[in-house]
Amino acid sequence: MSHVLFINVFGHGHINPTISIVSELISRGEKVTYIAGEEFRDKIEDTGARFIGYKNFDELGFNNGDISPTEIQPQLMEIARVYVEIIETIFNIKDSFDYIIYDSLFFIGAEVARILKIPAISSNSTFAVNGKTNYLSEFFTRFGPVIKGLINKPEFSAIINFLKEKYGIIVPDLLSIHKVKSNMNIVYTSRYFQIHGESFDDSYKFIGPSISDRKEILEPELVSREKSKIIYISLGTIFNKSIEFYESCFKAFRDMDAKIIMSVGTNIDMNSFKDIPDNFIIRNYMPQLEILKHTDLFITHGGMNSTNEGLYYSVPLIVVPHFFDQPVVAYRVAELGAGIVIEKNKVSPALLKDSATKILSDKSYKVNSEKIGKSLRESGGYKKGVDEIFILKGSKRAADNLIYI
Ligand code: UDP
Repeated sequence: MSHVLFINVFGHGHINPTISIVSELISRGEKVTYIAGEEFRDKIEDTGARFIGYKNFDELGFNNGDISPTEIQPQLMEIARVYVEIIETIFNIKDSFDYIIYDSLFFIGAEVARILKIPAISSNSTFAVNGKTNYLSEFFTRFGPVIKGLINKPEFSAIINFLKEKYGIIVPDLLSIHKVKSNMNIVYTSRYFQIHGESFDDSYKFIGPSISDRKEILEPELVSREKSKIIYISLGTIFNKSIEFYESCFKAFRDMDAKIIMSVGTNIDMNSFKDIPDNFIIRNYMPQLEILKHTDLFITHGGMNSTNEGLYYSVPLIVVPHFFDQPVVAYRVAELGAGIVIEKNKVSPALLKDSATKILSDKSYKVNSEKIGKSLRESGGYKKGVDEIFILKGSKRAADNLIYI
């Protein structure tokens, strides 16, 4: 039995794909200590892992996707505060660890592994990045000067110096974090769907989405076929407070021969909706994986999990990307002919309706999503991920973890 240190940051999209990996590790005899935001305690303890929580970021202004460059500095300081708390937690745990698995956005995870002289595995909840496929480049172009300004601020340098002096951690250049890779890098998509998949070496394990039984109940009324098509709509769990978008969907699909299942997220009060059309079922949360099995079209924000989940079940997509990696994910869906992209500020009832009609009548979208779906289903999932982890730990490769590409 080995003792695994799992470190995660941010929200559900980063945590969800790791859950089945952790359960599988435990079922094969590993002990897992999982550090994540306190709100994920139940979800992670259910796997049998030991959980250590931290107070997650105060509400990040990223939430509406419209953050301005000047607003981002305090947000990054808040992220730095959490990262320091995680580091202090790790080095205060008395147990020893055999290897680390860390979310790739906790980019100092490989540094921690280097110091502990154990192998590092990154968990990439979105596309893997290298010089060719840097989904962060738009983010860096927009926020680069502000990030540089932050690096020069005394309170930020104090954090960098503290980590170096107390723990020996050398924080990589924030504008080059896309160049960091680990001994092994798990990516929850297929090499086919990954942009420039061929440009990644063998340390990248494209295992497809971690689809497992979430033990969620699907009420039959959600997927009964009293209309000819079922359309599922969700903007995910973060950038989802868009009443205007949901109302555009009402207007677009009110008269369509389709049943519309809509998840609006937990930040929205259902009473804010007036005049909900009869063919809509709206909830704060939906059993997404179960619904997707019955869906003809998925309208998504292009979150990596949702996109992969939809494609896994060969569902064509309309992608309305909001922020961060989503424009790149949307672009890839369109490039492979599995869906249509609508820019957030161009959403209108007419465009939604036209795009949906086009996808539902032109079979090529279904054929192309089936092709990606097949590649995702054949990637091996969490069982393959754990097989690869066992091969790595058996090979006793350690230290020298922070490799720049
Ligand atoms: N999800 C769900 N039901 C909902 C909304 C979201 O099960 O009503 C799940 C979805 O299956 C996915 C995750 O929440 O696994 C959202 O992750 P994604 O990367 O798509 O978007 P994010 O929330 O990180 O923006």
